[in-house]
Amino acid sequence: MTLPPCSLCGGGRAEIKQPHTGLRLCWRCFRRQVVERVRNEVKRWGLFEPGHRLLLAVSGGKDSFTLLDVLSQIHDTGRMVALTIIEGIPGGYHVEEARAISRYARSYGVDHVVVSFRDYFGATLAEMVREASRRGVGEKPCTFCGVLRRRIMEEQARLLGADRVVTAHNLDDEAQTALMNLLRGDYVGLVRMHPVAALATRDFVPRVKPLRKVYEWETAAYAFRSGYPIQSVECPYLYEAPTLRLRARLAMYRLEGSRPGSLLRMMEALDVLLEPAARSLARSPVELPRCARCGAPTSPTRRLCKACELLEKVGLRRAPQQTLQPG
Ligand SMILES: [Zn+2]
Ligand SMILES: [Zn+2]
Repeated sequence: MTLPPCSLCGGGRAEIKQPHTGLRLCWRCFRRQVVERVRNEVKRWGLFEPGHRLLLAVSGGKDSFTLLDVLSQIHDTGRMVALTIIEGIPGGYHVEEARAISRYARSYGVDHVVVSFRDYFGATLAEMVREASRRGVGEKPCTFCGVLRRRIMEEQARLLGADRVVTAHNLDDEAQTALMNLLRGDYVGLVRMHPVAALATRDFVPRVKPLRKVYEWETAAYAFRSGYPIQSVECPYLYEAPTLRLRARLAMYRLEGSRPGSLLRMMEALDVLLEPAARSLARSPVELPRCARCGAPTSPTRRLCKACELLEKVGLRRAPQQTLQPG
């Protein structure tokens, strides 16, 4: 079977059908289009500036390879450091697997740092989850994972003098989070998702998401067609207790399947609708109180930050900070 010609260049063979635009693209045009969309999104909100030092959170999954590849085309790779966090979960990533990302990062001239939960907090995520269930602590694995990963990113960003923490969240991730915030009626959470609000923080290194308008199937196609050794590890805790995120994910797949472009249009609408609120939040950032144990910024009602509280619940105290470089 011969493939039809590319909708854009007419010369290449169209390998990739893009339902939300109706285009059939050759690999070269698809790759160029994804890079341009990311470049435009970065410029539109000022996600980072040319002189900025970026810390890229890379897990080894498709999104992170795509992030590394795309950013190396739009930013000075000498100002980028990649960070891999090894949580320590059954079937999860190990130091050996992080070496694959390391090789690619360094081939682009990007330094790579590997940090594990065990080095950082004295236990793996799996050990924390086991201890939490033994002690009857009502915290979900995703809470430990999310809060403690963010803590590592923040500390590494400060250590490395980064201006931005860059994560590989794609459009599907963002649309799910937005829908969850809507379903919970969490207006503030919704506004905080806006790139303008995310950049306004004084207490944290701003976290930005350059792939926020790229569909998950597109990051997968990009990474796969580029030939990256993608780790497709599914989180073992995903189906343990069906979360709101999982339900939102399934509902959104159905919507997108029947009306391609739905998620993109929803996020574009939210970007416009929420911008005034995000700007006003940015004009009056609140000075946050400090955690009594670690000194990190925390919410006004807390004595300990969420990270310290979680660690305390499973009988851990912070181990001295360490980073290790894979060979
Ligand atoms: Zn083409
Ligand atoms: Zn703390």
